Amino acid sequence: MKNGITHLFIPGPTNVPERVRRAMNVPMEDQRSAEFPDLTLPLFRDLKAVFRNTTGRVFMFPSSGTGAWEAAIQNTLSRGDKVLMSRFGQFSHLWASMAERLGLDVTCIDVEWGAGVPLADYERAIAQDRSHAIKAVFVTHNETATGVTSDVAGVRRLLDAHAHPAMLYVDGVSSIGSIDFRQDEWGVDCAIAGSQKGFMLPAGVAFLSISQKALEAHKAAAPKMERCYFSFADMIAANDTGYFPYTPPTTFFHGLRAALDLLAEEGLENVFARHYRLAEGVRRGVAALGLDLQAVAPQWQSDTVSAIRVPEGVDANAVLKIAYERYRTSFGAGLARLNGRVFRIGHLGDLNEGMCLTALSIAEMALVDAGARIELGAGVAAAQGWYRLANDAASRSAPLAVAAE
Ligand SMILES: *Cc1c(COP(=O)(O)O)cnc(C)c1O
Repeated sequence: MKNGITHLFIPGPTNVPERVRRAMNVPMEDQRSAEFPDLTLPLFRDLKAVFRNTTGRVFMFPSSGTGAWEAAIQNTLSRGDKVLMSRFGQFSHLWASMAERLGLDVTCIDVEWGAGVPLADYERAIAQDRSHAIKAVFVTHNETATGVTSDVAGVRRLLDAHAHPAMLYVDGVSSIGSIDFRQDEWGVDCAIAGSQKGFMLPAGVAFLSISQKALEAHKAAAPKMERCYFSFADMIAANDTGYFPYTPPTTFFHGLRAALDLLAEEGLENVFARHYRLAEGVRRGVAALGLDLQAVAPQWQSDTVSAIRVPEGVDANAVLKIAYERYRTSFGAGLARLNGRVFRIGHLGDLNEGMCLTALSIAEMALVDAGARIELGAGVAAAQGWYRLANDAASRSAPLAVAAE
């Protein structure tokens, strides 16, 4: 029996809004037609606005987000370049391992899974590097495996404080378009996002937004890495007139048009506020159930995903299996060393209060079915209380809407 909808609460792919899905239901078209740039050029412009990048440029590579990791490294760094990274979850781990495989000289600081970028350790490494051997500093803005958000602006501040010229690379795959991100202001040289998270699109396109400095690094004559499919130069030559060096996903671009319109209509500040409001309800629900988040302190808690630790003796994989098989609801699995220990609720993208309450209520049932001793309804009630309060406060701070009534 498959009545109703299957609920999707994984942190990517996220739910694709009806308007975006319909926008992609178009005939195939000629990617070399004279009209094609009318579709693509505004996409580049509006994507840059989401990154808050006014001075650099943005690429769309047909790949998942991982492709933009690779593109950023290959085009702007050389084999043997020293880079500073940190690892505190499966995504930061994979990024560091890619950097090693591509031949960078990686200093990777291991941090407990549940905390984020270690500013004090970064500062020490930067302060000691008087010869400016470190070419790039990497930050996983939102570690999706643990539900941890790091302080990108803090990394910029410490680079500036030591007048260190290293470039700043940020993995914003599960943050950009959902929580505050400011490329220009934070001096981010390479910012990476994917289509299937905050951008509310199917997987398949990686967005890479770069600064002028990254563009210069790409042109510099030093011995660089081989690059081919992800070559900035090839992309730029075609993109400048609205075209691509190979067949681009044309239907996807219509979906992107609709998704960017949705973000602009809501307003990025409102999108960020909504993600905070929704996340806070989930967190209050989790706390009311007596459960812990994997994020070890409030400063690290992510507004796009919560990794929830199951009680001792309960298998998180059983919670996932029950949620899916009995209640047709997908939660995110615990990745790598967190497998069996946590399940994740993705609360990003096209989401509202009712959806978060559904997630909590089904999580409660699956937890109890899997043997957890929690009180059914306690998490839902706590979230309901918060959502009422938060929406009441939000409507009070909107005098125009009230005056119009
Ligand atoms: C999802 C994700 C990725 C990888 O994206 P793919 O699209 O699966 O390649 C990288 N980093 C973070 C933080 C992510 O959440």
